[in-house]
Parts: sequence; C-alpha cells; structure tokens
Amino acid sequence: MPARCRVCGKSAVVRIPYARMWLCSDHLTAYLGKRVGETIDRYHLLSGGDRVLVMVSGGKDSASMAGILSALASKRGFEAALLHIDLGVGEFSALSRAAAEELSKRINLPLLVVPLREAIGADLPRLIKSVRRRSPCATCGVVKRYVANVAALRLGFDAVAVGHTLVDLASFALKGYITRSEEPLEAATPKNPGLSGLFVDRIKPLAEVGEVETRAYVKYAEIPWTDAVCEYKPVRTIDVEIRDFVSKLERDYPSLLVSMMRGVYARAPKTQREGVGKCSVCGAPTNTDVCAFCRITSRALGESGAPALHEFLEEKREVLA
Ligand SMILES: [Zn+2]
Ligand SMILES: [Zn+2]
Repeated sequence: MPARCRVCGKSAVVRIPYARMWLCSDHLTAYLGKRVGETIDRYHLLSGGDRVLVMVSGGKDSASMAGILSALASKRGFEAALLHIDLGVGEFSALSRAAAEELSKRINLPLLVVPLREAIGADLPRLIKSVRRRSPCATCGVVKRYVANVAALRLGFDAVAVGHTLVDLASFALKGYITRSEEPLEAATPKNPGLSGLFVDRIKPLAEVGEVETRAYVKYAEIPWTDAVCEYKPVRTIDVEIRDFVSKLERDYPSLLVSMMRGVYARAPKTQREGVGKCSVCGAPTNTDVCAFCRITSRALGESGAPALHEFLEEKREVLA
C-alpha cells in the first residue's frame, strides 16, 4: 500500500527523515515553509522590513531556498531579490544562468545577474589560472562572497542568504574539526552577523533542511534548477569523503544530525568582525594590507577588479530597486 500524507491522507511523495513522517506535495511545501520560518526565528535571521539578497547558483538547494523565501516574504514582511553570479565556466555557467533566469520568472522575484567577465574584466577560469596558491574552489569562494557582500551593501540589502543545507553545514563543521581550521567552523553556523557599513549578515535559511527535502521540493513545486556540475568540482578530496559520511548520517540517523548541529551552533566560535583593518586598495574589511579579492583580481588583471565591480553595480542599480 502506498504511504499516505500524515496531514491529509492523500498519497505521499516524500518521507521527512528526522520527523519520520510522509507528506503529499502540498504539505511538503507547507512543512518546508514552517521549518524555514522556525529557523529564521530560532537564529534571528530576518525581521520584518529587512531586504534580503538571495544567492541563486542555479542548483537545487539555492533554488529551493529562493522558492521558500518568496512564499514567506509577504507573510513575514521582508523583501527578497535574487543575485546570480555568472562565473563564465563554459556550459556549466550557461546552464546555471539559464536556470536562475527561469527561477526568477517562476517565483516572481527580481534577479540581478553579475557576469564576472563583464563586471570585473575576468571570468573564473582566468582568475584560477593566475592564482596557484589557492584551490579553484577557494578562489571561487572568495570572489563570490566579495561580490555578494558588495552588491548587498551598495544596493541597500540587510542580508545575503545562501542555500547551504544541514548537510553542507555539518560537512563544514566536521572539516573544521578534522583539519583543525577555523574557516570551515565559522561557516558552520546559520548566521554570520554583519558589521555596520562593512559586512551584511550572511544567513543560511536551509540550516535545518536536508537534501531529501530540497530534492523533493524542486520536483513537486516545479522549481527550475540544473544539475550541471562545475568542471572544477573536486573528485576525491577530504571534502568529498566528509560529505559522503555526513550524507550517510543524514540517511541513517537524521535526528542525530540536527541535534549535533544545534550543539555545534551553540559552541561555534563567533565571527571576529570588530577590529579588522581595511584593504588599502578597495576599503573592504580585511586582516591583511590588501584583501584576498583585490590580490586575486590584481594578479589576473594587473589591477584590482573592485572599481569595475562598483561601477557595474551602480549601472545595474535599478534592477533590484
Ligand atoms: Zn497532504
Ligand atoms: Zn580590496
């Protein structure tokens, strides 16, 4: 006999692992709205009147986040808009950008696309080629975080939302412990608070949502997304091993994963924002003389990409106004 929805008794489409309940497609959407709403309240992610810039990569997790937030926005009185960074990585980026554009139409939220080549004068492959000390993913991470933060600051947003799920945050935490590094531990939290005029809040509304739910949600809520894979994605590194392990935990011990992460959040090192210096080139907060973004872009372009980015965002100001 097919499983029945716990709420209405219609035929179910998904089983929520940690809640141990089956839901139909309608009640899956309702459940995720409630779950994300509770995460927003529990970790003080957004308040009424806030403007949130939602990062959409084109993949299923950020597409799910955008769909859920668009439904919550009017109920909770915050405003949401989408930002997609076109990295210029061949077919992968073309498909990702197309998915983000489709998503914007489907959920009726405005979208700003920032193509790196146009906005700073170099795409990701060119940046990667000139930066040998960092892995491609590390270089990409620096650039995406910088662009998102500057876009939010200049266009009047209070927070940047990223689509990291419970599995992502648990993988960051485990990596931090295993490799004894601070950076992944700092990322393993539902909210990295901002600092007035320098950083906006970085929030993760899917912090307590697993991948089983986002996969079902994009399917049944007909949310456009792409499963295109970036050519720089590592095949076998410690990151992949850790993720495989966390995914297995999610499958076999789902409630353990949620409670483990609540413990991690409670003990997480607080992001040190106070007392940081300013980049001598672009003015962004940094602990070094020149910030990582300016160093990476200068190496590829001969000068920082920051002024060009600022100009690009100024020209696009009305897109998300
Ligand atoms: Zn139902
Ligand atoms: Zn800088």
